[in-house]
Amino acid sequence: MNHFELHGGELFCEDVSLSALAEAVGTPVYVYSTATLERHYAVLRDALVAEGIRGEHGGDPLLAFAVKANSNVAVLKTLAKLGAGADTVSEGEIRRALAAGVPPEKIVFSGVGKTADEIAFALKVGVSEINVESEPEMELASRVARSLGARALVAIRVNPDVSAGGHAKISTGKADNKFGVSLSEAERLYAKAANDAGLKPVGVTCHIGSQITDLAPMAEAFAKMRGLVERLRGEGLAVERLDLGGGLGVPYFNQPTPPTPADYARMIARTMGGLDVAYSFEPGRMIAANAGVLLARVLHVHERPEGRKFAVLDAAMNDLIRPAMYDAYHEIVAVKPRPGAPVVYDVVGPICETGDTFTRERALSPLEAGDLVAFLSAGAYGAVMSSEYNSRLLAPEVLVKGADYAVIRPRPTYEDMLAKEATAPWL
Ligand SMILES: *Cc1c(COP(=O)(O)O)cnc(C)c1O
Repeated sequence: MNHFELHGGELFCEDVSLSALAEAVGTPVYVYSTATLERHYAVLRDALVAEGIRGEHGGDPLLAFAVKANSNVAVLKTLAKLGAGADTVSEGEIRRALAAGVPPEKIVFSGVGKTADEIAFALKVGVSEINVESEPEMELASRVARSLGARALVAIRVNPDVSAGGHAKISTGKADNKFGVSLSEAERLYAKAANDAGLKPVGVTCHIGSQITDLAPMAEAFAKMRGLVERLRGEGLAVERLDLGGGLGVPYFNQPTPPTPADYARMIARTMGGLDVAYSFEPGRMIAANAGVLLARVLHVHERPEGRKFAVLDAAMNDLIRPAMYDAYHEIVAVKPRPGAPVVYDVVGPICETGDTFTRERALSPLEAGDLVAFLSAGAYGAVMSSEYNSRLLAPEVLVKGADYAVIRPRPTYEDMLAKEATAPWL
């Protein structure tokens, strides 16, 4: 459920008219709903708690929001106020989480290629754990920690070798991709870490992919993780934490209906069978995707002699790259739908690349130049992946709460854009 709905024939975000907002802020623009972010967080937390999935000291499980899905500090702050942690993959993301008020003990540092500087930074600010993905990385964490006179709390990221995920580019849990170590490697590394003066292994973690709409591969992976925890404990090793990653899919309208958070929580309770460990999760998409839209204006509609109709927007692949990169489907709705039979359009941006096509042959309510359209489910992996390709300004971001809104990332000016570059002394 989300808070983008038609009121009196016009699309609103909560109590804010999207046409009024577009007038005031301009297009293209990302618009996020506070109520939707809050709702998605609460629904997941409550579903897990209801199934007895607990965190440290018997409290709520840690929901470390995957910052890469939406890294705007105001979005992170909205979630942090509810108790969310942050799953981060770079020093920049750790800094964003801290700026949003996420306490360091709720920040997880993930990622396959952390640098020594990044690990040192994470240790200095006191993140809750470093999720190490390989033996060389674990050794690096140990060296950096010892040089600081510290002990790095690490969790071993396991690649449980199952197939899942909505697209080959977002599947991460097969043995042939770059993420994590095998179950047997994890056992060896865990024991090794326990004997390393620079490390303290606190748990194990997995994340098998994104936009997963079938619980079976997750259950398969989680059962393997449970077995791993039991084997490690059998060897006398302490395992305090189990991080089950993110990856639950969201409805993108054309896709299989994803399981609900309640289904997900029930599956976990069943698979874990009472395993006593502090659980944590790294949800990204399921919290943020349907909490945001990209608003764009139709520049013009042109029709080829053979009949194909193109709706050319002022938004392009640099603003929302998911369709070009993952063949992703976004529902597109007119902000003020015109009456009349649906018309079939190719919806495209102005960039000189065939890939700058949001959709082909989509039936939409009739569009005219100047109309506004909204790309739904654009709150995750939207603004974070935008670029200035074609020297287009980054689309601003707006956060709505009830009848109020705030510009949480202003549209830069062309002067801002040019000021970021320097010329070479010989020019
Ligand atoms: C991307 C990622 C997530 C979040 O995935 P979603 O599909 O957005 O929930 C969580 N953990 C790790 C390690 C990731 O790389």
